[in-house]
Amino acid sequence: MWQNTDRTRNIGIIAHIDAGKTTTTERMLYYSGHTRRIGDVDEGSTVTDFLPAERARGITIQSAAITFNWPPQVDSAEDVKTAEAVASQSLPRSTLSHRINLIDTPGHADFTFEVRRSLRILDGAVCVLDGVAGVEAQTEQVWNQAADWKIPRIAYVNKLDRDGAAFGQTVREIGVRLGGWPALCQIPWFEGGRGNFCGVVDVVNLVGLKYASGGDGKSITTYNMTHLEAEEPALAQELRKARAALVEVLSEHDDAMVEAFLDAEEDHLAITPAQILSCIRQCLNAGDGKVIPVFAGASFRNIGVQPVLDAVNNMLPSPAERPQAEVSIGATTGYLDDLLAGRMIVHSSTKSKSSRQAVVPVVGIDKTLKGCALAFKVVNDSRKGMLVYIRVYSGTIERNALLYNTNLKQSERATNLLRMYANESVPVQSLEAGQIGVIAGSKYARTGDTLISCATNKAVPPSPLDQLQLRPIHVPPPVFFASIEPNSLKDEKDMHDKLNLLLREDPSLHVTQDEDTGQTLISGMGELHLEIARDRLVGDLKANATMGKIAIGYRETVTQISRSNSKIFDSSARGDAKGKAGCTAAVEPYRSRTLTDEHSDYALQHEQDGNLVIVEAPTLDRKGRPLDDDCASLPGHLTLSEVQSAFTNGALAALARGPGFSYPMRNVQVTLTLDPAKHIFGSDTSYASLTAAARLATIAAFREVSSMGGIAIMEPVMNVDIGADDASIGSIIQDISSSRGGQIVSLGDNEEAEANAQAFPREIDVSRIYAPKDPFEFGSSAGLDQQVNKQRSIKAKVPLKEMIGYLKHLRSMTGGRGTFTMSVDRFERMTGQREKALIAELRGGA
Ligand code: GDP
Ligand code: MG
Repeated sequence: MWQNTDRTRNIGIIAHIDAGKTTTTERMLYYSGHTRRIGDVDEGSTVTDFLPAERARGITIQSAAITFNWPPQVDSAEDVKTAEAVASQSLPRSTLSHRINLIDTPGHADFTFEVRRSLRILDGAVCVLDGVAGVEAQTEQVWNQAADWKIPRIAYVNKLDRDGAAFGQTVREIGVRLGGWPALCQIPWFEGGRGNFCGVVDVVNLVGLKYASGGDGKSITTYNMTHLEAEEPALAQELRKARAALVEVLSEHDDAMVEAFLDAEEDHLAITPAQILSCIRQCLNAGDGKVIPVFAGASFRNIGVQPVLDAVNNMLPSPAERPQAEVSIGATTGYLDDLLAGRMIVHSSTKSKSSRQAVVPVVGIDKTLKGCALAFKVVNDSRKGMLVYIRVYSGTIERNALLYNTNLKQSERATNLLRMYANESVPVQSLEAGQIGVIAGSKYARTGDTLISCATNKAVPPSPLDQLQLRPIHVPPPVFFASIEPNSLKDEKDMHDKLNLLLREDPSLHVTQDEDTGQTLISGMGELHLEIARDRLVGDLKANATMGKIAIGYRETVTQISRSNSKIFDSSARGDAKGKAGCTAAVEPYRSRTLTDEHSDYALQHEQDGNLVIVEAPTLDRKGRPLDDDCASLPGHLTLSEVQSAFTNGALAALARGPGFSYPMRNVQVTLTLDPAKHIFGSDTSYASLTAAARLATIAAFREVSSMGGIAIMEPVMNVDIGADDASIGSIIQDISSSRGGQIVSLGDNEEAEANAQAFPREIDVSRIYAPKDPFEFGSSAGLDQQVNKQRSIKAKVPLKEMIGYLKHLRSMTGGRGTFTMSVDRFERMTGQREKALIAELRGGA
């Protein structure tokens, strides 16, 4: 029997910007019957580009999850018979209607994090390529990101209607640059061999599909082999070659295909479509990208989209076929199924070995845990309010269930559960494992939070379920920032409320408040990222606020060790936070990741943003009691863990603003020491005063280091991937290494081929990749290898500052053809000269 999950696909469309993701998605929605007309990116009328900022720029920023059925629902009586035929493999899965949850991901590098968090919840992906541009640096990047999560992928070569479209060449690039063997499931159909692009030839089913010219793509004439032979003999001949090549590629990766080939008496054409599909599924499921099914089309001309949808059903996995979800409980990581089956051993997370006892294998969780889901996206919808997109990983999330957020340690009821169809939302009673849906009106959940529902139905689930988290997404550190100010004092609260909405939507945005100046700073991944944030805040959310100039987010660090600095905070002297407390702080460069033996067993350590804060209380035991009679104790209203958390927060506040240039600190280790005799003043000592004292003491330690000349500036260094023609490589390298102070890491195809050879025992040899000739290739004698090697890629590490405005420069060096992508590699101490220049600039600007 076909169960719900078997007929569900959670897929993403990934691609280089402008490859045609949104255009393709619009066609998918149209053919599935969920929209009545085809939206147009260029007119700004698409369903998925729904933010005004996106429509204005014609790009997709926020990924939208949309559900539709493919093929459109057929009547149910027929369904049972069809289902049987599908189960026995006499019909392909695409004859049965599947529920497809589609996530349209953004392509811009500033939104890498958006892409990552979408990928995380996908079971499969369609990579759209621009048939003119071929594999671009960003295509490689998204492809590799999907590879990180082992997501089965197929490739769709789009825009074949355009002049200069080169399917064959793109296929070879797919092989060499994406590092897998292209398995051509289609070849393009150009009228008479070199005329207009009019359809595709299906290598699996051995038919030609000709699309009525200028139509909406629903009128398709199917040509069988005989028909093709008669009308397009050269194409029929090519189809034979393509079939042989497909069988060959699959045979090299799956013995089932070798058997099928022998059973078919070595006749490539006699192998059934079912055998081929089942073999492709098998090859894709591993998620290693060794076999890459390739499709052809021109979405804008409404050619070739339905076969890609069929392929989603036929080749990509259902949620049940994917590896189990990774989870963590405290410091222990494992798999969700193991946890449910009582096979996961949970350790406690303290530093000393003696206290690391194995707590249980936790049993009975399968009875307690009713549902477990990940909030992978939060969107503020102007009509429906906050929409929290979730993917259910286990059990069922019921409407009205009490959901505990294990990140926020808070619960709320899911009073409104929805499924989002193209442009309407449908309320549902429940969402089961493998499904994607929306909790509307949620007050707290943020992107990346784990939500669980328990049989106990209590506000807090029993331990250790309250700590259960699905594998979190790593958020890269922000490298650009700008100030953001309310236009008047009365707008301030509203601005902060709206900033909070933005932060729930996008965890790669950060907002900090400068304690001294009261200024609010917003930081993020790129200039465009912050500009969009501003547009969202001011344009969409209508906050009365102004964003200042966007600048690079440098960091400060200490190069020397301070003495211990003690400070007493007394509200009677300052008048802000209430109470009186003290703290001793010392700072030093942060080198080691673990505590040393000098620290007591129960010292609290907190690592954040590349800094480490350690809180020591040498005269107290783990419970906060004095070690001997001479030592002072804590007053009744404070526990040791409260003091530790108050101190940590104070140090973090100090770390947010360096002593030299007000940049956040990085690579700093702060050690705070509590001596109750000196730091606690009975009932006068409040949490807030402890935080304030810790902040003052830490700042004093920074000032001391600063007075010794021990503060240095760190700058973000980027991993840069440049794609360009062979002819421009020399000048690009020259420019990167001498004018921009960058360091070339790898060069072009040689290194890459070597790297690939290590990853894949069989090197991808271009001459062994089958691809049909491109129309312009007829009569040309240029070697294939030369053509594919025309594009080369350069990997380099370059300071972010030198990359500002680089696109324009690269374009001018490459006649407009060069592309690049970048992501943060790390923060690095600036060299003396660079630091001097920056300081002069900062002083000059002030
Ligand atoms: P995205 O950035 O990947 O979402 O790409 P879009 O769907 O926004 O498309 C980028 C541009 O390419 C738009 O101007 C589209 O009209 C155009 N485009 C998309 N698909 C095709 C195609 O098949 N043929 C042609 N000629 N243009 C296309
Ligand atoms: Mg788009």
